[in-house]
Amino acid sequence: MGVQSKFYKSAFKTLQERKQISEDKAIAKKNKIYKDIPELLEIDNQLSKNMVIVARYALSEGSKQKIEEISKISLELSNRKRQLLCMNNINESDLKVQYFCNNCSDTGYDKNGKVCSCVKSLAKQFAFKELNSSTPLNNCTFENFDCNRYSDDNREVMTTIFDFCKNYADEFNENSQSLLFMGGTGLGKTHLSLSIAGKVIEKGYGVIYGPLSKILAKIEKEHFSQSDSTTLDNICDCDLLIIDDLGTEFLTSFTTSVLYDIINTRILNSKPIIISTNLSVEELEKQYGQRIISRIFGCYKGFVFRGEDIRLD
Ligand SMILES: [Zn+2]
Repeated sequence: MGVQSKFYKSAFKTLQERKQISEDKAIAKKNKIYKDIPELLEIDNQLSKNMVIVARYALSEGSKQKIEEISKISLELSNRKRQLLCMNNINESDLKVQYFCNNCSDTGYDKNGKVCSCVKSLAKQFAFKELNSSTPLNNCTFENFDCNRYSDDNREVMTTIFDFCKNYADEFNENSQSLLFMGGTGLGKTHLSLSIAGKVIEKGYGVIYGPLSKILAKIEKEHFSQSDSTTLDNICDCDLLIIDDLGTEFLTSFTTSVLYDIINTRILNSKPIIISTNLSVEELEKQYGQRIISRIFGCYKGFVFRGEDIRLD
């Protein structure tokens, strides 16, 4: 699977920044420790000098005894260092740089010179961010979803749906089930979908969300411009895909087949999708055909939202 090179560039840039921050932090911490315990600085300096001397002797013959002498001194210094650290409640790791990624020490390359998986996952995050950029999540959270705005007749059903969604987001994992939100406009489907998106992103998962029309337009543009297309790959591969407002997009034979591919691929790979739609079952079948709709109804847990348009005051 390809991720556009601009996202890789951003990923490497982020790694560089992370590396710098980690190293600056480590230096500051080390300097503070040396200031508090000057003997430690002397020991570390002497240990470094000894290492150089040993390396030099190692190249010349007949210096075995000398090397042993220095190694013995170094061992004593190391023991004294450990003692000092212990007395001051300092872990040896506190003197080392704490990288974000231990696999590549934030260089982006592992020990075999291969691009580290952290680069790939960062590049994906940037790609998802760009796809999601037009839909702000801040306005839609579980905290500002008010079940009391529904009438007495609908409140119980909507509270049950709300509780399910909140629990779904809390417990989300790669194998969570797919959901289908049905019901009229303004009943809270988008609000709850985006609340789930926010929570699941917070947990560190890759989420793509937004109106299907926007997602399909991007895929179509990439397909026909034969660009370094990756949106479709990302959509098939992200941990959670949220398709908002199924039924409002303009369908062509190309987009219908892409939609089928997306739904089918994700079902085959057991990757969850949340679909929300204002359309009825009959309307969905008419618009997308039996093939797609039977796939969705066969594998998704459905919820029918009830109530009045909660966006109207
Ligand atoms: Zn890494």
